[in-house]
Amino acid sequence: MKPAWIFLLAAVATPLAAQEPPCPTDVFLDVGRFPGAGGDYPKPRIEVECEEDTLVVRSNGIPHYEFIQITPNPLLETNREYRFPRRPELAETPTPIPLLGTVGVAINGIPFFGPNEGGVPYPGFGDPIYNSIMDACMGHTAREYHYHALVQACLAADIKPGEPSPILAYAADGFAVYGPYGCADQDCSSIVKFKSSWKKLRDPEIDAWDAFRYEPREGPEFLDRCNGHGGDDHGGAYHYHVTESWPYILGCFSGTPSPDAGREAAPPVSQGGPRRGPPPPDQPPSAAQVAAAAERLGIDSQSLAKALRLTDGRIDPMNFAASARALGIELGALREALDLPARRRGPGGPPPAPPSAGGEEPPCRFRCGTSDPNAVGCGLTPDYKVVCTRPCDNNKCG
Ligand SMILES: [Zn+2]
Ligand SMILES: [Zn+2]
Repeated sequence: MKPAWIFLLAAVATPLAAQEPPCPTDVFLDVGRFPGAGGDYPKPRIEVECEEDTLVVRSNGIPHYEFIQITPNPLLETNREYRFPRRPELAETPTPIPLLGTVGVAINGIPFFGPNEGGVPYPGFGDPIYNSIMDACMGHTAREYHYHALVQACLAADIKPGEPSPILAYAADGFAVYGPYGCADQDCSSIVKFKSSWKKLRDPEIDAWDAFRYEPREGPEFLDRCNGHGGDDHGGAYHYHVTESWPYILGCFSGTPSPDAGREAAPPVSQGGPRRGPPPPDQPPSAAQVAAAAERLGIDSQSLAKALRLTDGRIDPMNFAASARALGIELGALREALDLPARRRGPGGPPPAPPSAGGEEPPCRFRCGTSDPNAVGCGLTPDYKVVCTRPCDNNKCG
């Protein structure tokens, strides 16, 4: 009797098990096996578990590879807990990603942000990759180490370019973010490199969101506004891909972002209290705020709403710097008229100080952003030292 009973149980259990998404613990790196950031930095730490509806990732924000300082901000251990839906669903309309702050977490426990920086250079929101303020793995420190693009070689070193890419991150709406390559069709007759459908209109040094426009493109390799698709490469299930060009990771959320994407977690007992997290993203002002601000500025509220892009249905984060420019006024004056709190400088902190005359310049070999035409490659050595193969032969070094 017993074997038949077990068989019956298995037959009943299988359809239920098929509905349960596997807990993707294996997708994440066992960062404890890697050398870490080097020097006296704490060892990287990550824990991944699944609750019934939630993927939970806790990490201390230390990279699993050598840390190379690019910004003036030091590398600090930042304990965070990320809670994402395990069964993500497409929302009716996309949600803007935060202008500043966490958009998701990479498989090594490092958060990733959107494709713009804070106040670097002033007035800010420029493309940090275009502006070459990233390390070879497209990370840098602000209040914490974070990415603005994901380099497959840094996160999945054993995957060769041209092979289908693995998952490199999860977005706050729970959808997976794959590397750039995938099957062109269900039979995987060929491998394609997925491409962003955002077109560059002008130089993104300042205000990247104004420098690119989404234009839908034909072809299986082109991704949607949010940089995702329900492609044949993963059985039609929606997912994002990282792309070589802007917005690099996500352009918006296709699902509903979790409100718990990266809250500060309790630090280990040996440390002090929690540090401040990044500031919350700017929310769109209310109609009453706009009307009052228009009166203060002496313009009609329709023009102000238009300059704030509240009228044309664009899926963008609020960008008060661009709005102020469109109005021909100072950013501070606009924020004051709208009764918004003054912004501290963005997550990049103050701009990197220019190298002093006799001072030590950082080694240029680490400045190998994908926007740099001289970069011929970057990644990690087998012992996880950062390497960049850009020839160090011009005056841009440091
Ligand atoms: Zn895909
Ligand atoms: Zn940044």
